[in-house]
Amino acid sequence: MKIVINRTACAGHARCHALAAEMFVLDDDGYIATDSFSVPPGSEQLARRAARACPERALEVLEADSGHERENNG
Ligand code: SF4
Repeated sequence: MKIVINRTACAGHARCHALAAEMFVLDDDGYIATDSFSVPPGSEQLARRAARACPERALEVLEADSGHERENNG
């Protein structure tokens, strides 16, 4: 599983970081510091929760780690 981040949408609420600080690393200004990362095995549910918690919808969950499948919530 992978998280892809639309950094231009990030408004620095740090909700993602509050839920899972190791995965959602912020820069010095409090904005998300990465464009994408692979979710460590076992942390999928936490990653999904953190992605849903983003008020800007800047975090997209790709269920498949490889390939181009993407979850579409409409
Ligand atoms: S919750 Fe969303 S807006 Fe807030 S820091 Fe994380 S990615 Fe950015």
